[in-house]
Amino acid sequence: WLKKKQLGRFMRERLPRDLQQRLRSFGRVGEELGAQVYLVGGMVRDLLLRQDNFDVDLVVEGDGIAFAREIAAREGCRLRTHQKFGTAVLIFADGFKVDVASARMEYYQQPAALPTVEYASIKLDLFRRDFTINTLAIALNEGSFGELLDFFGGQRDLKDRAVRVLHNLSFVEDPTRVYRAVRFEQRLGFRMGRPTEHLLRSAVRQGFIERVGGNRLFRELELILREPDPWPAIQRMADLDLLKYIHPNLKVDARMPGLVAETRRVVHWYQLLYLHQPCEPWLVFLLSLTARLDDDSMLGMCRRLKVAPRFLDLLCEQRRAAKKVLAGLRRRVRRGTEPKASDLYRMLRPLDSEMLLFLMALGDDSIRQWVGHYLSSLQQVRCELNGHDLERLGLPPGPLFREILDTLLAGRLNGRLHSRDDELALVRKRFLRCRSEPGATVD
Ligand code: ATP
Repeated sequence: WLKKKQLGRFMRERLPRDLQQRLRSFGRVGEELGAQVYLVGGMVRDLLLRQDNFDVDLVVEGDGIAFAREIAAREGCRLRTHQKFGTAVLIFADGFKVDVASARMEYYQQPAALPTVEYASIKLDLFRRDFTINTLAIALNEGSFGELLDFFGGQRDLKDRAVRVLHNLSFVEDPTRVYRAVRFEQRLGFRMGRPTEHLLRSAVRQGFIERVGGNRLFRELELILREPDPWPAIQRMADLDLLKYIHPNLKVDARMPGLVAETRRVVHWYQLLYLHQPCEPWLVFLLSLTARLDDDSMLGMCRRLKVAPRFLDLLCEQRRAAKKVLAGLRRRVRRGTEPKASDLYRMLRPLDSEMLLFLMALGDDSIRQWVGHYLSSLQQVRCELNGHDLERLGLPPGPLFREILDTLLAGRLNGRLHSRDDELALVRKRFLRCRSEPGATVD
């Protein structure tokens, strides 16, 4: 175990060179501005655990925004600032992102004077964090570069593999930490310290979680479901009686482990095949977690958690539609009939990839195969003729165009049409027969 407080050499061994150079340059700018700059948070924790994490969070003892402005000017970064919180985000030309915070400021109102701003020390800033393992900081200024600051036993708890709060009121002060504790514990394979788990259970019993704003709770749930395997954290939430705050009817039943495992499998399959297609696996896990909720409960959950409108369509409307699709597909499985490709296309087309993956996780082998076939090939099928071609054939634009194009697509999907000539022949035979526009041609 790393005992040294000087991490310079360790950083040289573990971090990519360009990142090291950037960290050194942050320290130099801090030095020039007369401010101490520290690397904090998850990256320090994970560095000591020898896990790759290059999300740079800086804390500046002083004016973090002035510091970020100086870096942005020198390096040509994009800069977003939040004056109210004394924070900034730097985005370098190559996409590298750095979060900058001012060691939390203290405001003192002097009698008959303007409020004065005092910058807090790094120690005070770190004291406000959630768990001891997140309170480690590394100095970046020249002269002290690589020095590890450990005020609250963070190194000891990394060694003990323990998630511990800093003080007894931590969960009362911010009950979202209850979910964060579960996430870190399960992700890192740690355990909560006994007193910490006791404090957590007592905060839950006393109903503090009900006071958490829905959107903050949803954000923490999202972070849990973004873990590569959220199942251990889901189980732990059930064990700590935390699921009921997401919805009172939410339970881990006998089928849930299988469903979540299947969800992992289909998500993994999709990610291997369709690296560049937009898909949010955490939403598929959310659909699996809430699979047993009825429609009203789902809507209630979305309201309570103030789910953003962009997710509502998937979680409510599409979910309702998908249930009907699933029932239809299950009927076909029972009858032993395979759906025509064009029918499959019509049923699945309105659903986002997240919902399709959820259907795959829910369904049996046949359904998985059909939906998989839709995702891997049917979804990409197009007919070659378009509206301009139909106009050039002398057909009048209008609802007829939709009908023709749908017919052509169905012909393609069902393997009856293979080329542009096949499509033209079909249009001529079915839709131009009773028309006599001489000379109508398509190039
Ligand atoms: P990850 O690897 O998941 O990004 P992280 O430690 O960087 O882990 P974030 O959620 O990005 O976690 O938070 C950054 C830092 O901010 C944490 O290390 C923690 O110290 C602090 N923090 C975040 N949320 C809270 C909170 N609710 N209470 C106290 N400190 C918090």
